Amino acid sequence: MNPLDVYKKLPKKNCAKCSAGTCMAFAVQLLRRLVPISECVELDEQGQKEIESMVSEPGDWKERRVQELLREISGSKFSAIAEGLGVTAKDDTIKLRYLGRDITVTHSGFGETMDIFDQLLILMYIKTAGNKPLTGSWVAFRDLKDGLIRSDSFHEACEMTLARMFGKDQDSFLEKIFELGSKEVKGFPAKHSFVINPLPKIPFLILLWPRDEEFDSDCRILFDSTVTGYIDVEALLYLGMAVVRRLAVNQ
Ligand code: SF4
Repeated sequence: MNPLDVYKKLPKKNCAKCSAGTCMAFAVQLLRRLVPISECVELDEQGQKEIESMVSEPGDWKERRVQELLREISGSKFSAIAEGLGVTAKDDTIKLRYLGRDITVTHSGFGETMDIFDQLLILMYIKTAGNKPLTGSWVAFRDLKDGLIRSDSFHEACEMTLARMFGKDQDSFLEKIFELGSKEVKGFPAKHSFVINPLPKIPFLILLWPRDEEFDSDCRILFDSTVTGYIDVEALLYLGMAVVRRLAVNQ
């Protein structure tokens, strides 16, 4: 199976309604399991099923990974790691805020129905059990440990996609940013600057520039310098894409 086989089955509209932005990029990301097939809003249910069955391996790796991660955290004492992670814990239960939602995690799973990608990200965050105090020093994805190798993907899948969404309808985009619990911050060289915490100790600084006569709308995302103590860059890319997906709903 290669991306061209998947691409041939897609609507080939390049409508940019998915986080990948183009059908070919979507095909590549789908094969890497970086996006769910449901993101292609131009596909009907039958088309989604057909492509999903093409790209699915026997047994779902995401389900398997969730079970592995649950096993890996089964020995951790939640109350001992809670403060470092910025969550609350009691006995076998962690409560945390993820992308504007209150989530409950126990050693055996989630209290709420959640997308499998979101489950993976939350479990990776708990497993890493970071505890460094935030520095307030902001760095780009490419400057993080091992960031260079995934920085182009991050730029295209997250920053450019948000810039396009912002350029399309600034008011509703800003409304959605606030709905996710973002706080406007000052002192940065952008027209709009927000801090949003998709996970408690992982703030994203989102900088937005509207289109002008010379340049298209633009977006940059910066991270606290401690971020890789909480999640690795691969998972951070997925977390950025989760933010994009949440902001893209109803766009
Ligand atoms: S939403 Fe579907 S049709 Fe539109 S660019 Fe993405 S993959 Fe292509």
